[in-house]
Amino acid sequence: MTLPDSSPYVVVGGGVHGLSSAYHLALELERSGSGSGKDVIVLEKSRIGAGASGIACGVVRNFYFSPAMAEVIRVSVELFESDPVGFGYRPVGYIAAVPEVQAEDCVAIQGRQAEIGYSSDIVLGESRCQAHMEAIFPDWNGDGIEAVLHERQGGWAATSQTVENLARLARAKGVRIFEGVEVTGIDLHDGSVHAVETSAGSVETDLLVAGPGPWAGHLWRLLELEPEVRTNGERRPIVTYWKLQEGDYWLDDVELTDAKGNEPPVVHLDHVLPLRSDRDGGVIEDGPWGIYYKIGRRGFGVQGGGVPIELGTDVELEPYGHENPDHIVGDEFTDYFTAGLAWAHKRFRGKGREWHVDPHGGIGAFTPDNYPIVGFVRPNAYVIMDSNHGFKMIGMGKLAARDIVGGGESRLEPFRLSRYEAGITHAVSNSPYPWN
Ligand SMILES: Cc1cc2nc3c(=O)[nH]c(=O)nc-3n(C[C@H](O)[C@H](O)[C@H](O)COP(=O)(O)OP(=O)(O)OC[C@H]3O[C@@H](n4cnc5c(N)ncnc54)[C@H](O)[C@@H]3O)c2cc1C
Repeated sequence: MTLPDSSPYVVVGGGVHGLSSAYHLALELERSGSGSGKDVIVLEKSRIGAGASGIACGVVRNFYFSPAMAEVIRVSVELFESDPVGFGYRPVGYIAAVPEVQAEDCVAIQGRQAEIGYSSDIVLGESRCQAHMEAIFPDWNGDGIEAVLHERQGGWAATSQTVENLARLARAKGVRIFEGVEVTGIDLHDGSVHAVETSAGSVETDLLVAGPGPWAGHLWRLLELEPEVRTNGERRPIVTYWKLQEGDYWLDDVELTDAKGNEPPVVHLDHVLPLRSDRDGGVIEDGPWGIYYKIGRRGFGVQGGGVPIELGTDVELEPYGHENPDHIVGDEFTDYFTAGLAWAHKRFRGKGREWHVDPHGGIGAFTPDNYPIVGFVRPNAYVIMDSNHGFKMIGMGKLAARDIVGGGESRLEPFRLSRYEAGITHAVSNSPYPWN
């Protein structure tokens, strides 16, 4: 396949957002009679799924404090549910178990889920939460857990399968995907994109769409946009990097199964009680801590993560992913994560030094309020910057395509760049994470 010297639509990035946007653009162009997938090309500097989409834990949930997120996730979960096999989607559900300080947040979140028809239950009070969790995990320890939000929809998806399925759908509609082609420059005329310069030549275009993932800051620079925004009286960098802490852990003799021996829901556990090492009893975390976990990606053991670490505005992204020792977690995180597991489940207690470890994690680019920026940032340059919690948001590309072809997708209004200047940023929860 030869790179064309022009294409009406050029999509940068072969992750979930680039591929979903390309596929849905093809559908929208066909539907409106204004074109087809043949008018869309995707440029990916490495290979599809080489960025955050390929290394994500793959958790799919609607546990967001900002009301604007609920509908985006609902659309996304519908897409996963439309082809669970193709997307590698496991609809096992999702449980958030939290202390008193987050109980009201959970009630509000569940209320919004009910309003939009997203199936979930809320359980309040320590003893009721304990009973609910014990029915799933007979060895559950729920000391101080005052609210459990149990999403009956959601679960997790195998990331490479999701990415490949989106690429397959896009190609079936005529979209051409060019791997190994890096966008190295953007030729702007009077503030609009005229062409993209790539490692394989220049491509003129009418419209650029970018799903840059962790490379959001690089794309921002290529588009010659301001590196900071003014919001609520202060200047904030458009991109701040965080290190996601995750890994795969397994024991020789204990599995993460439910009371019936089946795969359990994904669990998200936050707490404020001191977290003690399961190796030596030492206090690891005195303040709020949190872990999330699911069945391991090998089909056994446990895969999960914990509260990420803020890195600032200057980070080396290359090489991206698990082969970069600076991007993955060390032994300290194993101690933290397995301490959290031991706190929650008797079956894991006293096993702190027995875990087999496959450390991973990765770098993500977060926006000034940790929520996505979606929309035009130049007259013909459209971005989806998902603030690094958007593997689950595979429906964002569907909304973006409607926005681009039809104009004015109201569900995306809360995600415009202009919200910062207007001081209308997203609600902040009591969670220790930057993404709830
Ligand atoms: C360790 C980790 C765990 C995560 N876990 C979850 C989770 O459980 N659930 C969840 O919902 N989200 C999770 N996320 C977040 C999620 O992975 C990302 O938000 C999402 O995948 C971003 O998708 P994207 O398409 O924007 O970016 P990416 O998947 O990173 O895709 C961007 C692509 O653009 C390419 N690219 C960059 N620059 C250029 C260029 N100049 N020219 C051409 N190509 C370029 C890159 O090679 C890359 O393939 C996790 C993230 C990390 C890092």
